Amino acid sequence: MSDTLTNKAASFNDIQTKDIKHHFSPFSNNKELAEHGSRVINKAHGVYIYDDNGNKLLDAMAGLWCVNIGYGRQELVDVATKQMKELPYYNLFFKTTHAPAAKLAEKIASLAPTHMNKVFFTGSGSEANDTIFRMVRRFWDLKGQPTKKQFISRKNAYHGSTVVGASLGGMGYMHEQGDLPIEGISHIDQPYYFKEGGDDTQEAFGIKAAQSLETKILEIGENNIAAFIAEPFQGAGGVIVPPASYWPEIKRILAKYDILLVVDEVISGFGRTGEWFASQYYDLKPDLMPIAKGLSSGYLPIGGVIVGDRVAHTLIEKGGDFNHGFTYSGHPVAAAVALKNIELLESEGVIERVKNDTSPYLQKRWQELAAHPIVGETRGLGMVAGLELVKNKDTKERIAPDAKAGGICRDFSMANGLIMRPCGDTMIISPPLVITKAEIDELVEKAVKTLDETAKYFN
Ligand code: PLP
Repeated sequence: MSDTLTNKAASFNDIQTKDIKHHFSPFSNNKELAEHGSRVINKAHGVYIYDDNGNKLLDAMAGLWCVNIGYGRQELVDVATKQMKELPYYNLFFKTTHAPAAKLAEKIASLAPTHMNKVFFTGSGSEANDTIFRMVRRFWDLKGQPTKKQFISRKNAYHGSTVVGASLGGMGYMHEQGDLPIEGISHIDQPYYFKEGGDDTQEAFGIKAAQSLETKILEIGENNIAAFIAEPFQGAGGVIVPPASYWPEIKRILAKYDILLVVDEVISGFGRTGEWFASQYYDLKPDLMPIAKGLSSGYLPIGGVIVGDRVAHTLIEKGGDFNHGFTYSGHPVAAAVALKNIELLESEGVIERVKNDTSPYLQKRWQELAAHPIVGETRGLGMVAGLELVKNKDTKERIAPDAKAGGICRDFSMANGLIMRPCGDTMIISPPLVITKAEIDELVEKAVKTLDETAKYFN
């Protein structure tokens, strides 16, 4: 492959050399990196990133699903600079606060579903899910139902990389490392119609997948279940969009057994579906929502938990001290940047444009890829989409063993100046929300070329 990821050792530059010697890279094979070197990204603007070989790449993943506002916004730089000068740091522990955290909490509450009015700040999505694990267990203790401690999640879910986050997640390759999941977490089937739908209709499969929740509740005992956690659509699992019948059935089951609903909005929050939150898109009434990523468009690390009134009331009225928090909870510079980011999304009508204009266009153009000989399915909603690489459209037979086609397709995509991400044999995108129709055309054109080259490679 001509991809610059396969640089020869002789061509390593200074940054790559330092990186190889001293940086332990996340979600990477560090041994292979030492042979090939990492791609060095050194600037970004709009929907494009640039590497130090002069390559311009259309970032159809918005970093890690986070740069909703696009790269290079001077307004965010200015706000950060001002906040750095005024108050670069102070914590929120022990009865102190500061304006950026308080104003951001108010803003988030104004956008969230109406029954959600409190925000607990964290530094990331993983920390948000760790926080939820403790809040939920504390909630049921305070309610006098201390046996309600177990969480139900889904296979192939992603909820972060800390011990609790990875345990709540349903990624087998993560569980293999570090003896996860921890106790008290079980995983049910995912609503992945293309892979697991068999002969069922979408509707019947959606109900069946949701009913695996009820089966699990009855198996563990309803008095032992604290909460069900789920992404509204599975992101890192491969942009798995549940059939329309799925969420209504889940809601019915949760209400029947009085189990809390945690909707993980880390990817979906702040506009990705064309609504501020996917809970509004799917008409869900979560008890808790972890957020991060699009909250600051990734410009600075910040996350949080939006807490529904029912849980907040009990924790606050009956809970006394909540013995939990992070040094960087609601960091003033990150909070100021997040607030400005939200104001920009609002004042520039970015989310309305996604809803009414650019996301219908992206989905229409993306669907055209379904006609390609190696595409078994395209799917998506709002500003996320995925496609399945197959050898045979009818039998859904995969192109190569061990999901090798996904990695090859990603490399061709990179060489074509487009960042798509492989999840096994599924190629996914989640572009910045500010992407224009012309840039969507460029994205699709590059995707077609990439698919052609991938097909040729395996022929
Ligand atoms: N939840 C979801 C749905 C995610 O996609 C992610 C990250 O990709 C997380 C949680 C974890 O967020 P972070 O990487 O900020 O810890």
